[in-house]
This record gives sequence, structure tokens and C-alpha cells, in this order.
Amino acid sequence: MTYTIQGNTGTWEVVIGLEVHAQIASHSKLFSGAPNDFGAEPNRNVSLVDAAMPGMLPVINRACIEQAVKTGLGLKAEINRRSVFDRKNYFYPDLPQGYQISQYLEPVVGKGVMHVELPDGAVKEVGITRLHLEQDAGKSLHEHSPADSFIDLNRAGVALMEIVSEPDMRSPEEAGAYLKKLRAILRYLGTCDGDMEKGSMRCDANVSVRLAGAKEYGTRCEIKNVNSVRYLMKAIEYEAGRQVQLLEGGKSIDQETRLYDAAANETRTMRSKEDAHDYRYFPDPDLLPLIIPEELIERIKAHLPELPDEKKERYIRDYGLSAYDASVIVADQASAAYFEEVVAGVDAKLAASWVTAELFGRLKKLDKPIEESPVSPAQLAGLLALITDNTISGKIAKDVLDKMMESGRDAAAIVGEQGLKQVTDDSAIRAVIREVLAANPDKVAEYKGGKDKLMGFFVGQVMKASGGKANPGMVNQILKEELGLPGG
Ligand code: ADP
Ligand code: MG
Repeated sequence: MTYTIQGNTGTWEVVIGLEVHAQIASHSKLFSGAPNDFGAEPNRNVSLVDAAMPGMLPVINRACIEQAVKTGLGLKAEINRRSVFDRKNYFYPDLPQGYQISQYLEPVVGKGVMHVELPDGAVKEVGITRLHLEQDAGKSLHEHSPADSFIDLNRAGVALMEIVSEPDMRSPEEAGAYLKKLRAILRYLGTCDGDMEKGSMRCDANVSVRLAGAKEYGTRCEIKNVNSVRYLMKAIEYEAGRQVQLLEGGKSIDQETRLYDAAANETRTMRSKEDAHDYRYFPDPDLLPLIIPEELIERIKAHLPELPDEKKERYIRDYGLSAYDASVIVADQASAAYFEEVVAGVDAKLAASWVTAELFGRLKKLDKPIEESPVSPAQLAGLLALITDNTISGKIAKDVLDKMMESGRDAAAIVGEQGLKQVTDDSAIRAVIREVLAANPDKVAEYKGGKDKLMGFFVGQVMKASGGKANPGMVNQILKEELGLPGG
């Protein structure tokens, strides 16, 4: 699936690298004991360290380091036994220190790799460049007064992991799929809640274009703080088109930082891009280099949960699922847990198709996450058992599932009450068939004259006459007999 933009002068290719800021799931901030909880009243979660009072010293939060190591291992990345905290200097009202403590040349996590499932089922490898730790900044509030700005320091000092990818993505779809996969891994690991609406995961997209087949990358622009997968894809699409238009018009691309305006679906200049030297990075003299003992890495490694890739492999191997079904189910930990409960008692492929197509579809319509499914895994397994033992057909089962979603009741109760049990009695089905054939003598004659397609018509009429309850296999069989066909 190649994504290109056809211009007047040639075919253009898009190059994308993402920087994702993920808030570490922890009780307190990166260098202070102040709490992290979302939605607290302004300036409640602020210690003297976060407010940068003179003489305060940062103390590293061990839990945050462990989360970063865990994330690095989940991204199949190198863990650097030694890393360094640097000061990234800039002046902003919501940054009382006058610098952000970050990591620059020696980050805690180095190169890794992620496998990204694309909508067409292909798997794309995207390189991870690095993961480093840094502090978040506070927030300036301008909407409370026309003349004044207020500062909320609740987020100041909150621990972030910045996860930087290689410029390996070539389409908006690949970038969207990467972001989703990264979010899934962070959630499986429990190192970030991945909630983009609350700002606990934010994405900067670096986008450039080049003529298809060119060796060198073009000049990139960075689109800041995109807060949903859908906007990310739209922003990239817009930005790539904008750059192609400029280049085809003989202009050049200025390396700059841009903002995506979702309402207008366009990107706009925010500022021209700073270079690293503008920040005057230097090692923070208040913090020693971070040394991570091998035993800590080994201990975290030993307790890693089963991650999406491994789970997917296991589903393919042990349950015989298709790669596509397996990747859809493992994309979300709660879905995987649900599926594993369903599959305990029924055929795996049946379970997979009912979970991914029927259940997910209905939940989407209700706009509910799987955790709030009105139908429990045991109840869905109960429905599938009725299909397996021929009590109901797959078609009736879909109606039964609709009723289960509405009422939360068991399949067996609904089937019994509404008389939906499948008819598997030979003579009952034969009687209906004879009625249908007697009512359509002309069609029967046409059929016998060679119009084979009419078989579908007869099956449809019989199913309709039986209220959808006749066993379809038996209907086919007995129809052939009654029409006097060989094999009947
Ligand atoms: P900076 O601090 O300037 O943002 P980083 O190294 O942190 O630099 O991030 C650079 C990001 O931009 C990475 O995700 C990288 O993959 C991406 N990138 C670099 N060059 C290009 C390019 N020409 N086109 C698109 N993305 C690029
Ligand atoms: Mg950047």
C-alpha cells in the first residue's frame, strides 16, 4: 500500500517521524513528591521543587525510572545502564525553573523496534530512535481575564517519556497505526494510560516530502501536540499536500514548527524551528548521572506482561486465528481478556469472528468500550454454544445477540421464550418445502429446464416460510431430494 501525491512535476512521497510525549503512570512527579492526579484544582499539586523555589533540589523518582525501563524493554530497545539529565534552557512563564530537566545526548533508552499492523493486514517495522525522560511544563491560562494571564503549575514537573521514532513512516495510515500500536504497548505495560483527550499522550509529527525514489530526505516541518489519531492522519495529509504545492511552485520549505487547526483542517506556522544549540543544553549539576543496575533490568524483564505481538503469535499458533483477527483482538488488552474467556468453551474461529465482527460492531454503535459490554464473555459463549449444537442458526443468533445487547439476558432464555429454536425435524422441513414447491409450479418447471440459479430462490422461500428457523443445511439437502436431483 504505497501512498503518493501526484503533482504536475512528478510523484511525491511522504516521510514521517513521530515524537510522542507519554505521561508516566506514577503517583508523584519526576523530581518531587507532589501528586500527579488529573483534574485537581489549579496549583494544588505543586511542591516547592516544582515551583522552583531557591535552594530546592530535585530528587529522582525511582518508580518513574522503572517505568521508563519497562517501556524500553517493551519496545525491544537497548536500556542504557548510564544516562544523564540535562538542562534545556528556555524562558516561558509556565516554566518557573527557566529550564526543563530533560535528557539529550545520553538518554535512558536507545534504539528499538516496533511492529505496526496496517489496515490491509501487512506489518511494517518502524525503528525507535530513543526514549528519554523529561519534565512537563505548567500551563498559562488566558481565558479568565482579558488583561491577565494565570499560571497553573499542576503539570510542572510531571514525568514524561519522549519516545522518538525514525523517519520510517510513508503514509498517514502508517503514522496512525504506529500511534495506536504504541498506545497499546504502553497500556499493556501499564506505564502510561494513553489517554490523548486528557493530554497524557501527545504527538508531534515531523513531515517532509520528496520525489518518489529520491535518496535524500526533504526539509521537515514539525506539527506540534496533535491529540488524536484521526487528527494526526489529517494533519499529515494536509501538511504533505501543502509542501508539495510549495515545491512545485518553485518555493522551498522552511524548517518550522506548525500547529494543526482541526476545525479548519490546516496547519499554520507557530514559530521557526529552534536548533538544539539554541537551548544551551548542559548536564544538570543538581543530578548525578543515572546508573541502572543490571539486576533491576533483569527483574523488570522477568515481570513483563505478555505484549500484543506475543499474544498475537500465540493466538495464531494455539487457536489457529488469522493474523488479521488476532491483531484486531490483541489491539486492546480488555478485548483480548474478553476473547480468552469466550474461547475457553467454544471453537476459536467462531469465537474470533463473533467477537470482532458481531460484538465489536454492536459496541461501536452503542459507543461503549468492551469493559462496559452488556453481554458478558460467558453469555456470548452461551450464545455460540447454541449455534454449535444446532439449536439456532447463525442468522437467528445475530437477532438473539441484538436482544442480549438490549436486555443483558442470556441467549438460552431469549431463544426459549421466543420459540427461536432451529427446526431440524426432517418431516416438518419437508412439509414446508412441499408447500413452497406447490405454490411455484412455473419456477419448478424452469428449474428442471436448467435454470440452476433458482435454487437460491427456493432456499430463501423455505427459510422465510419457516421464520428463519429451518436448519439451512437440511433445507438444501431436502430441496434436492424433493426436486428429484442426484445427490438428493
Ligand atoms: P528535534 O529535537 O529537532 O525535534 P529529534 O531528533 O528529537 O529532533 O526528532 C526528530 C524527529 O523528526 C524524529 O522523529 C525523526 O524521525 C524525524 N525526522 C527527521 N528528519 C526528518 C525528515 N526529513 N522528514 C520527516 N521526519 C524527519
Ligand atoms: Mg522535537
